[in-house]
Amino acid sequence: MIVTIDGPAGSGKSTAARKLAARLEFAYLDTGAMYRAIALSVSGSSIDLADADSVLQFAQGLKLEIDCGPTHARISVDGHDVSEAIRSIEVSRLTSEIARHQSVRTHLIALQRKIGSTLANFVTEGRDQGSVVFPDADFRFVLDASVEVRASRRYQEMTADGQDVTIEVVAANIRHRDSIDAKQWEPLLASGSAIVIDTTEITIAGVVDRLSKIVLGE
Ligand code: C5P
Repeated sequence: MIVTIDGPAGSGKSTAARKLAARLEFAYLDTGAMYRAIALSVSGSSIDLADADSVLQFAQGLKLEIDCGPTHARISVDGHDVSEAIRSIEVSRLTSEIARHQSVRTHLIALQRKIGSTLANFVTEGRDQGSVVFPDADFRFVLDASVEVRASRRYQEMTADGQDVTIEVVAANIRHRDSIDAKQWEPLLASGSAIVIDTTEITIAGVVDRLSKIVLGE
């Protein structure tokens, strides 16, 4: 069974996807981590992020390994674990820049489908999972919330991680990323075939309950 969860930063999709996967005993695929790992690696090189061909060529040369365990998802590049390093606000900003390049997306989409083909049951989360990557998924969810609530969630996560940020910087980062990323999930919303959940006033535990009831047909 394939369950896709798409939506903007701070909508709660990553935590919900991970917890849903753990509850259902499914694998968990974090596709944002794949885009982030490429952005982190490119940022440490001399490559111009705006140069799609060079970014693609560089990305094709990286060995991305992703562990899809629901309770211990990790990602490494060329044998180095980058699971924590990819979470900074700077990497978030750079990631949206490289995720704009269609050729980079095509490369990662192929990789995501390949990983999916090795998994019996999985929850995958990102921006385009239900619209482009797995349009025949059994359940396609879109989570959303107000910008203020999303910024506040991200701010709390980042400061808990020890990152030195202000809520204003986090909100600006989210607005900027929305303006680039939204076109990935808009087709899914427009098709009317996704199950949309507004998480502004629901806790993550409440979201996971709702998702799992729908998937289990309860
Ligand atoms: O979900 P997360 O915040 O980790 O995603 C980081 C960035 O990666 C997003 O802002 C988006 O630019 C990009 N992304 C994407 N398509 C996906 C997953 C992530 O474009 N499927």
